[in-house]
Amino acid sequence: MSELRQNFFTKEWVIIATERAKRPEELACHRPRQTFPSFVETCPFCPGNESQAPQELLRFPENESKPWAVRVIPNKFAALDSSAQPMRDQQHWRRRIHGFGCHEVIIESPDHSACVALLPDSQVAGILGVYKERYNVLSLDQRINHVTIFKNHGLDAGASQPHPHSQLIATPVIPSQVQHRLHEALRHFDDTGQCMFCHMVEREIDDRTLVVIHSEFFVAIEVFASATPFATHIFPLRHMASFGEITAAEIADLARVLRTLLAKIYLGLENPDLNFTIRSGPSDYVGARHFHWYVSVIPRLTRVAGFELGSGMFINTVLPEASAEFLRSICVEKSAGAGGSTGQT
Ligand SMILES: [Zn+2]
Ligand SMILES: [Zn+2]
Repeated sequence: MSELRQNFFTKEWVIIATERAKRPEELACHRPRQTFPSFVETCPFCPGNESQAPQELLRFPENESKPWAVRVIPNKFAALDSSAQPMRDQQHWRRRIHGFGCHEVIIESPDHSACVALLPDSQVAGILGVYKERYNVLSLDQRINHVTIFKNHGLDAGASQPHPHSQLIATPVIPSQVQHRLHEALRHFDDTGQCMFCHMVEREIDDRTLVVIHSEFFVAIEVFASATPFATHIFPLRHMASFGEITAAEIADLARVLRTLLAKIYLGLENPDLNFTIRSGPSDYVGARHFHWYVSVIPRLTRVAGFELGSGMFINTVLPEASAEFLRSICVEKSAGAGGSTGQT
């Protein structure tokens, strides 16, 4: 029997169409392995070509005499302009803010052929540390109200440059989807006196059917009312409203959990396109008791069709419990640090 499930955070309903249910492995991409060279002469993100890219904002490690492992630069084709002033104007119903915002690129490795799913955990920890640093610097800017950190892997996920990178966009407004999530979290806190995320994480850990990875500081869980197959959330076990509050020990642990999850998806579903994003409270949410940040990983295995566009309601043909069981069964130990010559980014 198919069933409708409601998302605990967004209150949106999805249809889990078990009548047309697919086994998780049927969604594997069967993509021929694509090989990139580890250096490309014309790539602005490759080492030695730094002058082709805009002025660097941050490098890790900071020591200039060492080769960089992770680098942050402004996006050359930025969606928003950090030099503009966030001037607001409104004429009747037409409300605008002049194009202020920051759009940055985080170059995840000097190796053009690398793939995050196959990087050593220490490199992923370096990337997450850089995310935190830029998140906290931008959060101090009074003009910025929200910072979105995201990764597009593969053409269907929006990646246009094969060199492995993620992006950050800081905006003067809080996007309405984020506002909706914050309102629901506040409503739950007011009704029950509890953080709804802490509450949900505790129950799911007890139940275990949706848990993929449970580590010292994090848990990766398939989404109960997942709109698309294999949507996975990684929650810190400790209550934290803002990603900027993460400690060094937690970064090292999150690197292991995120990298392991990405490797399971990479191996089990044969390198699908995917997005991941850090869903944090707005910049001034440090210490807030009702919200809890998390990482959302969404493989792009299905296409949005008319019903979804017309109703905002999704049909998912894979049971999240089956996705969790499938991902738990994929062994990734050997892939760690194996290099990325097969990465399609
Ligand atoms: Zn490159
Ligand atoms: Zn919480």
